[in-house]
This record gives sequence, structure tokens and C-alpha cells, in this order.
Amino acid sequence: MRMPLIAGNWKMNGSLALVEEFGRAFAGVSLPVNVEVALMVPFPFLEAAGRALGETSVTVGAQTLSDQPSGAFTGEVSAAMLRDCGARYVLVGHSERRILFGEDDAMVLARVKAALAEQLTPVLCVGETLEEREAERTESVVLGQVEAVFDALDEADRIRVVIAYEPVWAIGTGRTASPEQAQAVHAAIRGYLSRYDDALAGGVRLLYGGSMKADNAAELLSQPDIDGGLVGGASLKADDFLAICQSA
Ligand code: PGA
Repeated sequence: MRMPLIAGNWKMNGSLALVEEFGRAFAGVSLPVNVEVALMVPFPFLEAAGRALGETSVTVGAQTLSDQPSGAFTGEVSAAMLRDCGARYVLVGHSERRILFGEDDAMVLARVKAALAEQLTPVLCVGETLEEREAERTESVVLGQVEAVFDALDEADRIRVVIAYEPVWAIGTGRTASPEQAQAVHAAIRGYLSRYDDALAGGVRLLYGGSMKADNAAELLSQPDIDGGLVGGASLKADDFLAICQSA
């Protein structure tokens, strides 16, 4: 009953030429009907990506947003602007934003709220560092990041959030969490959500991210609490990304 979602995260990569290439690659294939596919592209490519993928079932999204609706915030991009340019999804709290740009839980929450207010689906990214895993703090870190957002949302909004569990040590390192490691954290997140209510726990989509590739996607995606993937490096090649979508 949870529709799988495969989301590509281009990060600060790609070009208009790559957008066009993806448009051509996805136009020629049929994606599984019961899987949603989204591509999170850099801001300047949003409209072009929407156009290039317009004939396909692939939706587009952004990688961050401002927590403010408008005003004197030079360089920022609001949720309404993203919507205007065709975005349906937006990543919030990616570990690169948290670590490199100092986004803390309060800033992440404000961005989730800004996205929801404009009918964008926030993909809330959570995950522990290697140090935290080795100190056996994985669950407390991850559940703390989830709690910081979910506790502050009302019931109607909680179900609209997608969560992506991305162990920081697995991002861009080629070191994927094993299906068992990923499943264990996903189950813990779902268990945590059942404190709010069982319908929420059963309904929220939980994606795995961190070195997901065509050759490990199927096994990760077959785990009972993994409802999709957030794919970085492997979303930059149309063939690789397609193969992951096909395996969902
Ligand atoms: P990766 O990135 O697939 O390149 O590890 C995932 C992400 O950062 O979303």
C-alpha cells in the first residue's frame, strides 16, 4: 500500500545537456506502473527537467529550499518558487546540508514546514556518522532527527513527509549499508512512528540512500520496511538510474 519512490539526487552535478539526455532515455522506456520516480536537480535545471521529462512519469524536485516565504534573502529560493518551476518534491536536511552548511534540526524543521505550506512533499533526510554508529548511537541519532520534525507537525502533515535514511558513512563512499543494517534502522523508524499512530507508521514511506547502485538496489528494496531509494552518484547516468527504477 506504500507506493515505492525512487528519487535521484544530482547534487551539484549535471547540465542542461544531461537533462535532455535523461528526457530522451526515459521517453523510450516503460517504468513499473506502481513505482514513483523523481529527479532532484539543481535549481537552474528545474523547468528544463520538467519539460524534458514531461512525457514520462518522472517528476522533478529540488535539493533544498529557504524556510522563508519571500523577502530580502539574497540567494535563497522559496517553496513557492520551486512549485512555480514544477517541483513536487524537495530534499530537506540532507547530511551535506547539515554538515557543510550547518543546518540543525530547527532549520530542518522550518524547511519541512515551508515545503508543506506550498504543497511540496519534503523528503526528510536522516542518518548517523560512522563515529556515531561505532559508538552505538545510530538509533538515538536517527530517531532524534525524526522526532525533531515529527513532534512539531500536526497529524495531517506528518503523513505527507517522506523519510530517507542515509547513513553518512555510506554516502558517496561505495560502502553501502547491508540490507540487514538498513532494514534494522528502517524498522526502528517505523516503530518510532507508531508512537504517534499505527496508520502513520504503516503509511510513511521510508527510503534508503547511500551508495545505492543497480547491482545492490533489488536486495535493499526487497526489505520489508524499505520503500524506495535516494540515489546520488548512480542517478547521474540514465542507464544506471533506469536500472534501479526497474528493480523497484
Ligand atoms: P550516493 O548519494 O548514492 O552517491 O551515495 C546518496 C545521497 O547523498 O543522497
